[in-house]
Amino acid sequence: MGICSHFVLMANHSITDTIGELIDDNGYTLTAHCGNKKCGRHVSIDLAKLAEKLGRDHGAMAKDLLPKMHCTVCKSRFSAISLSPKNTGGF
Ligand SMILES: [Zn+2]
Repeated sequence: MGICSHFVLMANHSITDTIGELIDDNGYTLTAHCGNKKCGRHVSIDLAKLAEKLGRDHGAMAKDLLPKMHCTVCKSRFSAISLSPKNTGGF
């Protein structure tokens, strides 16, 4: 590695292409945003569970994941998925 991942994440949206890569990198959390305005939940996604269900080679981009998931509370489709750096100070 050796590259500042925060910078890369912002500069290049496709740094991680698959669920498996996200898990191995272990530096990111995925959050899904419910598309139902009345619900409006933000759900953090369990990458390990996702990999079990869809396979580690499944794409981790929003366009790959949105059709596969729905809000656990209201069952609406998610409108967006965001990838954010996990914790680690200074950000
Ligand atoms: Zn919802």
